[in-house]
Formats: sequence, C-alpha cells, structure tokens
Amino acid sequence: MTAILHTGDAERGTLWQAIVARELPDIDFRCWPDVGDPEDIRYLIAWTLDRDLVEKLPNLEILFSIGAGVDQLDLSILPPHVRVVRMIESGITNTMAEYVAMAALTLHRDLPTYIARQRQGVWEPEDVLLCSERTVGVMGLGELGRASIAKLAPLGFRLLGWSRSRTDISGAACFAGPYEFDAFLAQCDILVCLLPLTDDTRGILCRDFFERMPRGSSLINVARGGHLVQEDLIEALDSGQLRYAMLDVAIPEPLPAGHAFYDHPGIFLTPHVAGVTRKETAVFSLIANLQREAEGTSLVGEIDRARGY
Ligand code: NDP
Repeated sequence: MTAILHTGDAERGTLWQAIVARELPDIDFRCWPDVGDPEDIRYLIAWTLDRDLVEKLPNLEILFSIGAGVDQLDLSILPPHVRVVRMIESGITNTMAEYVAMAALTLHRDLPTYIARQRQGVWEPEDVLLCSERTVGVMGLGELGRASIAKLAPLGFRLLGWSRSRTDISGAACFAGPYEFDAFLAQCDILVCLLPLTDDTRGILCRDFFERMPRGSSLINVARGGHLVQEDLIEALDSGQLRYAMLDVAIPEPLPAGHAFYDHPGIFLTPHVAGVTRKETAVFSLIANLQREAEGTSLVGEIDRARGY
C-alpha cells in the first residue's frame, strides 16, 4: 500500500482526495488526522512540518510543499534521505506575475502619490514617463522571476535580471553573481525581489543594498519577509534614498497591529497574497509528480536540500 498524507487546509484535502482517487486509484490519499497505519505513508503534503508527526512516519520518502518556497519548513527534522519538492503550478505563477505587473505599474505611474494627494484634497500632476524610460530589475530568475519578466515585457519596461548562475532571458539584460551585482542594482528604478530565502539571501535588502540603488528608486518585495532588514527600509524611505516600498511579505506574518509599516506613508502592504497556490490547479502538479515518481523520472520542483532551494 502506498499512501500519501495531506496536512493543513481540510477543504483542499477533501478536494484533492477525490481527484487523486479518480486519477491515481493505486494511491491511498489520506487527510490528517486520519493517518491510518503510519507505516503506509511514503509521501507527505505540508506547508509546515510537525516534528511529532514526522517521527511517526518511518517510511516517509518525499515531502511535497504546498508553497513555492520551502523556507517555512524546518527541514532539519526530516531524515536526510527524504526528498523535498516545492510547488510549481500555474496558479502561483500566474498570480505572482500579475501582482508584479500591477505593483510595477502602480509605482511607475506614481499612484501612491496621487492617492495621498487625493486624501489631502490636492489636485497636482507629476511628469509622466513611458515604461520604456523606466528600468525594472528582477532578483531571482527562477520560475516566478521569469514569469514576472514575461508579464512585464509587453508593457515596454527596460528589464534587467540577476541570479546566482548565468542565464539568458529574451528581452531582459541578465546579470549573474556577486561581481555583477552593483552594475545591476545601480540601474534599477524599480527592484523586484523574487529570491528564495536562504542563508545567502537573508537580510539582503539592507542599508548597503538600498544605497547602491539609484536615489528615489522603489522596492517590491514579493519573496519573503526575511530578505528585508525592516529598520533599514524605514531609514532609506525617510531619507529619500527610496521612494516607495510595496511589500507582500513580512516578519512576522501577520504583521502585528501597531507595527511601523502600517502607518508609513512610503510603504504599501498586502497580506502574502502575491502568488497563491490554487487548489484546483495545484493538485494536477502533484499528480504529475506522483506519476513521474512511479515511472522513476525526475520530479519537477525537487530542491537541493543542502542549497536550500
Ligand atoms: P526558483 O527556485 O525557481 O528560483 C530561484 C532563483 O533565485 C534562481 O534564479 C536562483 O539562481 C536565484 N538565487 C537563489 N539564490 C541566489 C543567490 N544567493 N544569489 C543570486 N541568485 C540566487 O524560485 P521561484 O521563482 O519559484 O520562487 C522564488 C521565491 O518566491 C520562493 O522561494 C518564495 O520564497 C517566494 N514566493 C512568494 C510568494 C508570495 O505570495 N509572496 C508565492 C510564491 C513564492 P540560480 O538558478 O542561478 O541558482
């Protein structure tokens, strides 16, 4: 018996159970807390990991993350042989690309300035630039960075990308690694962070980083709250080094009432909704991976546990 255990949202679990029963009748799809015989469980689906549960699953082989990132999972409690697969699915990719386009256009057309002026009863125009006169830089050129660039390209922005290893993307000038970081940052009027959160990228959005961007540039952080040094952002906004920040992620989440970000005139928050796992589509990514596993082919989205993404 090969069983898969779903944890988390019960409604999603019930839907996926029905679809997997239809598509892969040989797999026994169980929804927590109905674990059944724990020795049957080879696959686990989770957003976060529970040590007590993991210790009860002696035959666990693969952990499937509900999200595109895996930093929220404490992988240290997983035995080293357990493989970890992040979620790559059209719902996350499309919603993220839409959000990045929305945020870039919002900043490009100065909407925050006009909303503030409206509240003050002020009618005052700014100079209008074309997208082709604005440079948007995307950090992280994986699944979501590439999809965001593809969404931005038809709008006409000048596009740059930066990643660890060298990559080519049509319509974007790509930079790689620490030696090309300054040349990338110095050109970004709008910077989009889409890096995974790892030991190398934690706190990357800091004072030193903001000082290397053009004065008056803006930040969009749709990756993780841990990338950002919060007090450095406030300092950069207050000094005018940065103009605006649109943040979809924070530490902690939810951001507590009274946090300085809520009231800051240069900060615009959304509650971690940029890229959303859609249960109706994500289940088919899971099924395709279960089929690949049965055929012995490589899984889409399997991470390198040592690298952290
Ligand atoms: P991928 O793993 O597909 O891509 C990661 C990219 O980041 C790669 O281009 C990689 O470069 C680059 N990278 C990693 N480490 C470094 C580094 N130290 N220096 C430079 N570049 C680096 O990730 P996705 O695009 O799928 O997702 C990105 C992140 O978005 C997720 O990890 C998650 O945190 C976040 N996310 C946020 C959501 C939201 O709603 N706000 C929703 C979904 C995801 P290389 O390939 O060369 O190694």
